[in-house]
Amino acid sequence: MNCYVIAETEKGETRAALTPASAAGLVKLGLVMQAQPGLGLLSNYPDAAYVEAGVKMVVDHAAAMAAADLVMRVRKPTKADIEMMKRGSWSLSFLDPFNEPELIAAFASAGISAASLEMIPRTTLAQKMDALSSQASLAGYAAVIEAAQRLQMALPMMMTPAGTIMPARVFIIGAGVAGLQAIATAKRMGARVDAFDTRPVVEEQVRSLGAKFVKIDLGETGQTAGGYAKALTPEQVAKQQAGMAKVIAQSDIVITTAKLFGRPAPRVITAAMVAGMKPGSVVVDLAVEGGGNVEGSRSGEDVVTANGVTIIGHPCLEGTVAHHATQVLAANYAAWVTHFWDEKEKVFRANLDDEILKGCLITHGGAIIHPQFAAKS
Ligand code: NAD
Repeated sequence: MNCYVIAETEKGETRAALTPASAAGLVKLGLVMQAQPGLGLLSNYPDAAYVEAGVKMVVDHAAAMAAADLVMRVRKPTKADIEMMKRGSWSLSFLDPFNEPELIAAFASAGISAASLEMIPRTTLAQKMDALSSQASLAGYAAVIEAAQRLQMALPMMMTPAGTIMPARVFIIGAGVAGLQAIATAKRMGARVDAFDTRPVVEEQVRSLGAKFVKIDLGETGQTAGGYAKALTPEQVAKQQAGMAKVIAQSDIVITTAKLFGRPAPRVITAAMVAGMKPGSVVVDLAVEGGGNVEGSRSGEDVVTANGVTIIGHPCLEGTVAHHATQVLAANYAAWVTHFWDEKEKVFRANLDDEILKGCLITHGGAIIHPQFAAKS
């Protein structure tokens, strides 16, 4: 199998789908690895290290695309990229499938088997290839670091001869993968941490990290069979906002990570709630790309409100720790390939009955085969 890995072109994208270490593993399996020069430049993996791992760096992008049996990239491709690929080849990347019906249709009509990292089932077996988790974890960490840098305060308590500095108050909304890592990071930095999530099952996890779980009685919230949060009713949203307003007003840093799988992010903080915060406070909206949890947040921008609150709308905070984000992301890609690799025959064997493949394969054999998207086409 000939695998080609593309250097990302999207503005601000610092990550790559391959590291020299993951490349060495794939070469050992029996894949022929090719990559675009500069692949790991922004995440500090030099071309020479890839070459040493057995990767051929190729300059002719169109020829490499046309020859590849598998194309790996972080971001979704353009339609022009899809047109360069050969029928029957495979594509693995983030695809944003719920918002990209045209791209999915283009993959289907080009006869390419497109797999979406977002759709890999969150099962124990698929943990090694769970790119949503590997990236969310680093985003949660980076959100705290980013907020701490903007906050003109120290996070830990300090007792000095000149007086006592009280610990900063950090409020994390949404305690999934990103939120739990944010809680752990803020605690390690000495902050006093509160957290809230609509899934009551996470209360124990929040408390085990040493944070306080903010109790708000929303009635029945539950979670989906896949473990994701369900959307709240308008009455529950109002109750949540009322229940959080006081904690938000007292907090120096608020980090929102609330997401609903396959749907726009819930609006959990209104402009009025931000207006009630202290000047100098910092809000990080980790859901900004999916519609935003915070009224007034803008993707790719810092917004400073009239009362002096900074709302950070960084679209990809994991990209600020690009070296490690790439390390774990590349391991996710390699685990996906390895899962479908026939060691004996040294071939990629896609078993369409495999639960992981069924979850993430969107197009195959010239059609949209994933039931969630086939119905929409
Ligand atoms: P996510 O990114 O979809 O959402 C982040 C968090 O936001 C979730 O905890 C969700 O409950 C919360 N949320 C949604 N609406 C909210 C609101 N209005 N207010 C406050 N919080 C709100 O979720 P995720 O972090 O990707 O994790 C989803 C689930 O998958 C979790 O149960 C997680 O433990 C599970 N998971 C399992 C595995 C595995 O078994 N291999 C791996 C990763 C995640």
